[in-house]
Amino acid sequence: MLSFGLSPEQESLRSLAREFAKAEILPVSAEYDRSGEVPWPVIKKAWETGFLNMGVPEEYGGGGQGVLASCLVSEELAAACAGISATLALTDLACTPIVLTGTAEQKERWLRPVCHEMKMVSLCVTEPEAGSDVASLATTAVRDGGSYIINGNKQFITNASIADYFIVFAATDRKKGHRGISAFVVERSTPGFSVGKKEDKMGQRASDTAGVSLAEAVVPAENRLGEEGDGFRLIMQTFDRSRPGVAAAAVGLGRAAMEHAVRYAKTRVQFGVPIILHQAIGFMLADMQKDLDAARLLAWRAAWLADEGQRNSRESAMAKVFAADVAMRVATEAVQIFGGYGYSREYPVEKLMRDAKVMQIYEGTSQIQRLLLTKSLFEQ
Ligand SMILES: Cc1cc2nc3c(=O)[nH]c(=O)nc-3n(C[C@H](O)[C@H](O)[C@H](O)COP(=O)(O)OP(=O)(O)OC[C@H]3O[C@@H](n4cnc5c(N)ncnc54)[C@H](O)[C@@H]3O)c2cc1C
Repeated sequence: MLSFGLSPEQESLRSLAREFAKAEILPVSAEYDRSGEVPWPVIKKAWETGFLNMGVPEEYGGGGQGVLASCLVSEELAAACAGISATLALTDLACTPIVLTGTAEQKERWLRPVCHEMKMVSLCVTEPEAGSDVASLATTAVRDGGSYIINGNKQFITNASIADYFIVFAATDRKKGHRGISAFVVERSTPGFSVGKKEDKMGQRASDTAGVSLAEAVVPAENRLGEEGDGFRLIMQTFDRSRPGVAAAAVGLGRAAMEHAVRYAKTRVQFGVPIILHQAIGFMLADMQKDLDAARLLAWRAAWLADEGQRNSRESAMAKVFAADVAMRVATEAVQIFGGYGYSREYPVEKLMRDAKVMQIYEGTSQIQRLLLTKSLFEQ
């Protein structure tokens, strides 16, 4: 039986997120975009509301929610500010490898503080020389008795300046390529671990991004997640669960851009009529509406498959690339509809355009999603 309706619980979660976004995020989003500071008061309120660790099992103090629930929340929060939404979503995303493969002891040790003490987590995959080509990462973890010695640099790590725990992916056996990658939890206080300069970004400026370095960092073997060599699979499983949420955030951003554009097009008069009555403008808005609806359905399907325990790599890639490209196009056209005013920081749409761009880049670029989709055609 196919149903497009949300359950009463899902509807009330969505309303809660919408209210939170309106009350706590929207009024401060322009200011954090200007300052680039970490939105601590919003993070704290989100944590109190349960938006910081929705996917962590209830037994460790988390929300025990599925991927679809996180999509509902991400759409609403990103409609108010995609940068703040990314800050909040990232800890939950970075907990995923622990949730998926952590032992009971590891979950107790790291997930409980995330839920009870507002500890933050970062996911460290990307390196200066290894972005899309994850399997080529150069960070190494060499076994030394009961520990691993980790050396390497990670780049563009969300929440790096503020995280307490870092899920670091490193090669334990470089000869094995992607089968030689392993995952470790590295605590911020580990000697040899350091966080670099914060990136000064084009958009999503409320979201902290920085590099991290590991120089002879000694990490106990019990911090390894899963077996040696499980790392690459774990990254991919994590992305399968996080990409629907990125797609949903893109829908939220695009929805905000469309709403601004519709309001403006109804009131801005040129050539004697509101510009929405010029077909070129009306059709842009019509396309925004249909594309955002399609993107939302793709995100929900990918999330639903994950929640049903079914493989969703293809559907997650599809949702992510489609929604990110739609968000970029919708935000760009919203600027166009605002004309010269759209280009001014006095109006909200230029921020949406800047914020949208990175959705085509992080968690796998739009090209990499298309690559995955092409590969899936070979496998059929
Ligand atoms: C704001 C922000 C936050 C981020 N947060 C995190 C984080 O928390 N953790 C983390 O690990 N990483 C994070 N990243 C990194 C992000 O995932 C990478 O930037 C992304 O995967 C691309 O890698 P790259 O930048 O090295 O680009 P490259 O891989 O060098 O790609 C450059 C260009 O070449 C294209 N390209 C590469 N290979 C192919 C191919 N085979 N076919 C066609 N085109 C190709 C790409 O699509 C891109 O257009 C973040 C990045 C940003 C900007």
